[in-house]
Amino acid sequence: MTPSTLSAALKSFRAAIGAANVFAADDDRRAYSDHYSPDESKHMPTAAVAPASVEEVRAIVRIANEHKVPLWPISRGKNFGYGGAAPVVKESVVLDLGRMKKIELDPDSGTVLVEPGVGFFDLYDYLQNNRIPLWLSVPGNSWGSVAGNALDRGVGYTPYGDHSAQICGLEVVLPTGELVRTGMGAMSGSPTWLTYRNGFGPGWDQMFVQSNFGIVTKLGLWLMPEPEALLGYDFEFDKPEDLGWAVDTIAPLRREGVIRQAPSMGNWLRSAAVMTTRDQWTKSKGPLGEDVITAIRKRFNIGWWSVQVRTYGHLDIAEAALKVVAKAFAGKPVLAMKPTRWVRGDPAEGSPFSGVPISFPLANANWHGGRGGHVGYSPMLPAKGSLALDQFRRTHALYEKYGMDYHASFAFGERSITNVNQLLFDRDDPAMMGRVDAMFRELVQDARAKNYGEYRTHIEYMDLVASTYDFGNGALRRLNEKVKDALDPNGIVAPGKSGIWPAAMRKERK
Ligand code: ADP
Repeated sequence: MTPSTLSAALKSFRAAIGAANVFAADDDRRAYSDHYSPDESKHMPTAAVAPASVEEVRAIVRIANEHKVPLWPISRGKNFGYGGAAPVVKESVVLDLGRMKKIELDPDSGTVLVEPGVGFFDLYDYLQNNRIPLWLSVPGNSWGSVAGNALDRGVGYTPYGDHSAQICGLEVVLPTGELVRTGMGAMSGSPTWLTYRNGFGPGWDQMFVQSNFGIVTKLGLWLMPEPEALLGYDFEFDKPEDLGWAVDTIAPLRREGVIRQAPSMGNWLRSAAVMTTRDQWTKSKGPLGEDVITAIRKRFNIGWWSVQVRTYGHLDIAEAALKVVAKAFAGKPVLAMKPTRWVRGDPAEGSPFSGVPISFPLANANWHGGRGGHVGYSPMLPAKGSLALDQFRRTHALYEKYGMDYHASFAFGERSITNVNQLLFDRDDPAMMGRVDAMFRELVQDARAKNYGEYRTHIEYMDLVASTYDFGNGALRRLNEKVKDALDPNGIVAPGKSGIWPAAMRKERK
């Protein structure tokens, strides 16, 4: 893209949506870059545009096609650890949908239709202010949007925690500017757009998740009816090796549906990194010794691993399920098992387990001091204790090799486990930043050697991760790119996203 193409496009954008909603000054561009990247210029967009309506989105798409300017759609752009608001290709213009904030909620069916700018805090306030007995599922850092998080397969802690799985019905501006509604929404006036997923013929909702095939302007989502009870146990485990048998205890309960949320078994650094900074524990830059680990565990009264298991629903059902959980752990060497109990009428439970948005875990970016940040590395594993333990041992050794503090969790899906590894860093420490990049690449290769793939990744590593999905010499990539070329002949929507490149830009693939 030449400067003159860009300035012509910006002129048209200003005419279409108003100069006040087109941002091209250096400060604006910095605001839309990746604040967790050591080098923000690497993915700094050329500009950003913020439309207020679907018609304005379509106008922008028409202009982008005309000038062949790539657009990078974001909802609120708080995808911290994965690139934030920043695009893969730095010549892109960020399409900031944060001004579109309409909420259409149906308390009877427990469904909501949100525009991209609706944040978790916005939707929570809406439910509270209108006294609607529905619970959200929120991610650990709830700064982002309901739609953007679901579109990147974000997760939460309630039975509705697999956010992309709760999507029912989308409105999408295709890269050519055409507007479609998926599922039952394809029938004008249908009352079941948000209640029956399939519609008639092929289902397309998931095609717009983690893809660059369209710009989602409305997203339908199922919300959980407020349960009568939220019960549980907080389990603590003393030794790293306890991971193996704990996984084999929890996984069957998850598979059977006794546990319907996704418990996440994390190590001692999880609390410490949020509540404290590293220099409160040691002045040494080297690996954290056993003495520090012991002190952290003592201060927070936690094990080497901790996991919170919760049961939901009518009190009778939640109690019965919890009894089954207790029975499964009976006689096993747990360090501690603390019961928790909330029943309707009690004061608010107040955590993400009851869908309350929080942002304080963002404090973990401050662990090392300096300008902090983190990047997440999360391969998907079979739900098997021996494999989880083996994964722990290999990745823990890599944390030691690269001199990074071990920060990981194993989150239970219905039939798989996500091993979420956080690399916490200080962007002002160039030596550390060099190790982070090398370590990330080795983690990907290490997982690939075991045939494990990541479920979500940072914009810098999308090609790397996509390349590990190599069956049939990259048959899935070819399929994705065939679809991309058909839907987006000018390659204007999020080129490079998820390793999917439009025809004219395939040479950009890393
Ligand atoms: P959040 O609002 O939770 O901060 P983001 O806006 O950062 O989430 O979105 C996460 C990722 O999902 C973005 O990088 C983008 O690729 C994709 N995305 C977000 N919103 C949309 C949308 N409305 N249409 C298409 N893709 C989107």
